Amino acid sequence: MAQYSRPKGTQDILPEDQPYWEYLYAVVAEIARSYGFERIDVPIFEMTELFARGLGEATDAVEKEMYAFKDKGDRDIALRPEFTAGVIRAYIENGMQVYPKPVKLYSTGPAFRYEEPQAGRYRQFHQFNAEILGVQSPLADLEVMLLAWDIYDRLGFKGLAFQLNSTGCPECRPGYITALQDHYHAHIDEVCEDCQRRIVQNPLRVLDCKQQRCQPVIATAPKITAMLCEDCESHFRELRGYLDALGKPYTLNFRLVRGLDYYTKTVFEVWAEGIGAQAAVCGGGRYDGLAKLLGGPPTPAVGFAVGMERIVMVMKTQGVEIPKLPQPPVYLVHLGDVARTHAVRLLTDIREAGIGAQIAMSGSLRAQLRHAHRRGARVTLIVGEDELARGEVTLRDMESGEQVMVPADNVVAALAQQMSESSGAKTAAN
Ligand code: ATP
Ligand code: MG
Repeated sequence: MAQYSRPKGTQDILPEDQPYWEYLYAVVAEIARSYGFERIDVPIFEMTELFARGLGEATDAVEKEMYAFKDKGDRDIALRPEFTAGVIRAYIENGMQVYPKPVKLYSTGPAFRYEEPQAGRYRQFHQFNAEILGVQSPLADLEVMLLAWDIYDRLGFKGLAFQLNSTGCPECRPGYITALQDHYHAHIDEVCEDCQRRIVQNPLRVLDCKQQRCQPVIATAPKITAMLCEDCESHFRELRGYLDALGKPYTLNFRLVRGLDYYTKTVFEVWAEGIGAQAAVCGGGRYDGLAKLLGGPPTPAVGFAVGMERIVMVMKTQGVEIPKLPQPPVYLVHLGDVARTHAVRLLTDIREAGIGAQIAMSGSLRAQLRHAHRRGARVTLIVGEDELARGEVTLRDMESGEQVMVPADNVVAALAQQMSESSGAKTAAN
């Protein structure tokens, strides 16, 4: 027999980890909806061209990390490395520009990048993604930033602060890029090979370089915030004004960039204590030029994406308390053939009454009871042949250990009663 292992960079999310994931999905969806965002689901794969255009040929995600292949119809297909390109495609294709503006959308699901796996970096990972389409106002920037903040906050992360920058627009960015290129050409022998290439192909990205040798050159590079046009400058000023008014801490970080022309104005991240530069948990910004680039009407847009694996990682290291997943409250144990058949009937009656239940599938009475306990049952029904012959089954409260006999034809009502009493007792105790 062959031994199979999961492909490099993928993960199995086992039942013991699921409480983190279910909780996280529930929290992000609940907060997003409370802000007025609506869910959209787009395909996991799209035409490769969409990502090549949407993210840019010179980005790592497209150039090095894309899962691209030909399908059996000879189409160029790629697994999505992120959500935004697909969401904008869907917005255009479905005529969503006629929706009342702003259009506020969120998604969750897997994304794929062919990267070197390490802690918090996988080839299949999951994102929460949110965008606001159709409005130019800095209020939209503020709204997605607050959403990202609230997610971190609700999860109990400590020491939150925004990292904030503006990357200008096609009006003012070319002037900045020239200044940046002049600076790099004066130091070209001091920077890494990637940056020697980037400064020509995708100049803003040099600011994002993690190589040690490039750090001094980045530190002395000109800053874009000193070179913004009036429109970008006032947009940035208004946004900072709101953040100031709300008392939300932010650090101006001129190294935060998105490399391409259709990214405009705001770029942000949220950092939390103990995580940050090496482990960006979310990244966002404005991309007013993207819809037009993808063949749609000009549509201002701003959004962000959160890496779910990295959030789970932080939840674990910061010891965030998460609720346990609910277990079916009722467990049926049985002794003998007649009792087993009766227990099966009871099982379906209980479920039909809307009460979660499971049945022991093997083992002695003791083993079955032990299993009921391990599975966190609140009530165990013991179906024994002698009791059944008397028209009774035993109902055992697993917390107190108390047992009562109930008429076999009245089990569902007795259970319902027991459930409401014990949940009542729980609420009273809280
Ligand atoms: P990084 O600098 O860490 O590579 P990025 O700039 O490529 O991040 P984005 O494209 O902004 O990341 O994606 C948004 C979020 O998705 C990131 O902040 C991160 O939390 C998560 N993310 C990105 N790539 C991966 C990956 N390979 N595995 C797990 N999470 C990822
Ligand atoms: Mg990356």
